Amino acid sequence: MHLKTLTLRGFKSFASATTLSFEPGITCVVGPNGSGKSNVVDALSWVMGEQGAKSLRGGKMEDVIFAGTSGRPPLGRAEVALTIDNTDGALPIEYTEVTISRTLFRSGGSEYAINGSGCRLLDIQELLSDSGIGREMHVVVGQGQLDAVLRATPEDRRGFVEEAAGVLKHRKRKEKALRKLEAMQGNLARLTDLTTELR
Ligand code: ATP
Repeated sequence: MHLKTLTLRGFKSFASATTLSFEPGITCVVGPNGSGKSNVVDALSWVMGEQGAKSLRGGKMEDVIFAGTSGRPPLGRAEVALTIDNTDGALPIEYTEVTISRTLFRSGGSEYAINGSGCRLLDIQELLSDSGIGREMHVVVGQGQLDAVLRATPEDRRGFVEEAAGVLKHRKRKEKALRKLEAMQGNLARLTDLTTELR
């Protein structure tokens, strides 16, 4: 599995559609200060489901949408698409090439898709989580993050190991199921009260 292409349109400083192609092996992105190198990395995190505006070096999520320059008006949406070569079947999906995409509208809505079919954020997260890439897989190591890992508490360090071992997905599912169960128990208690009153 390797990342094949990343297409940005209206994402941060990339107003026009821009596609970066990656070959297997190491890719270096070079350019002057402020030319958008980190924005490329932000786009990668974002399309894989990053939800924290701060992790994307912004104040709010809308900050990822091209804000305009003196010569170009702001845009109404940001779109990023990432194509992954899946010939080795690392992603649990029946395609040798997988494109995940994310769109955010300035009006507030957002869309996710896998190979052009609309899906939920959860679908993208689950697709990526077993493969060692994804939002919380620490595949994107930002400035200062190595230091943070070295200074991590034992609990946080356990979290890193759990992510690497693929336990995180199941932990999240369990938390979701427990929340549902709690809500159901509340409903059941209300129902019991009502039946007692009606007797
Ligand atoms: P350095 O080498 O200094 O780390 P860099 O190449 O990594 O720089 P980035 O941080 O990726 O540069 O890009 C910063 C540029 O992106 C700034 O010029 C900033 O104005 C621009 N930028 C960020 N968000 C937006 C946005 N929403 N709309 C337009 N431009 C944006």
